[in-house]
Amino acid sequence: MKIKEILAAGRPSVSFEVFPPKKDAPFAPVKEAIERLAKQRPAFMSVTYGASGNAQANTTAIASHVQSCGVTALAHLTCISATREGIAKEAAALRDAGIENVLCLRGDAPKDAAPSGDFLHAVDLVRALAGSGFCLGGACYPECHPECEHIEDDIRRLREKVEAGLDFVTTQMFFDNNIFYRYLSKLRDRGVTVPVIAGIMPVANGRQIARICRLSGTYLPSRFKAIVDRFGDSPRAMLDAGVAYATEQIVDLFANGVNAVHVYTMNRPEVAERIMANLRGIVGGGEAQ
Ligand code: FAD
Repeated sequence: MKIKEILAAGRPSVSFEVFPPKKDAPFAPVKEAIERLAKQRPAFMSVTYGASGNAQANTTAIASHVQSCGVTALAHLTCISATREGIAKEAAALRDAGIENVLCLRGDAPKDAAPSGDFLHAVDLVRALAGSGFCLGGACYPECHPECEHIEDDIRRLREKVEAGLDFVTTQMFFDNNIFYRYLSKLRDRGVTVPVIAGIMPVANGRQIARICRLSGTYLPSRFKAIVDRFGDSPRAMLDAGVAYATEQIVDLFANGVNAVHVYTMNRPEVAERIMANLRGIVGGGEAQ
């Protein structure tokens, strides 16, 4: 099924994210995680695209497994350093595997060298895939992409990307819903009208997230910092607090009329199960624990 059709239903929905095994790592644990996640009946499951070798083959294989579990898959695809021929091959492999949805991404630019290949920005990938029958999504950044100096420039670029053929966009994680609401209102004012899926990260490792947020420029509210300070050294306590915080964010989003939430579940079905248990009356579905 195409994700734009799922989103058009206009009902609260939750989707999950998984990452494929790294090169030469076993598939079985990832497949088992997906089978458990699928029991929660997410609206769809997205499969990230790694930077290592075999990345695409593993993303396609895992996305295919998601669909064999009865869940619509969204395959991520990055274009930095790729050639037109390579992207055409990847698109053909996804189509052969029955994948209908692609998240068009640039990927992180190489640190030590100028980017090579036929694609400089995600918009180039969107242009290459537009009209090819896929439902296309892209990434957006409520707190501005770290390489962009001003949010208005970033939104202008996003609008170009959407106009090139995106059907929806998914946000980078955020921990303060007010930042998301302000961003959404700016997007609508600037003419970005496609559905915006809110990305929520349930935090199970407080110390790690503090570092990631520093690098990506994601604001950590003092309420969240207090949780990390108090529970960051106890994995069980941090998991309880992280699930509670993410649940609260999601309930607030739904209460304020946002219908689509993407949970960065990162191959952790126990996190997804606990969040979905808290939301069953709102989104339905799922399996009792
Ligand atoms: P772009 O849309 O190309 O934007 C990148 C930067 O370039 C921005 O600063 C933008 O303002 C600027 N820009 C855009 N167009 C132009 C233009 N025409 N001229 C000048 N500047 C321009 N990474 C992975 O490797 N694998 C994944 O699976 C993955 N999944 C992700 C999922 C989500 C929801 C998100 C939010 C990110 C994901 N990423 C993933 C990370 C992503 O690849 C990086 O954030 C990357 O740095 C930017 O990708 P983008 O697609 O947003 O790029």
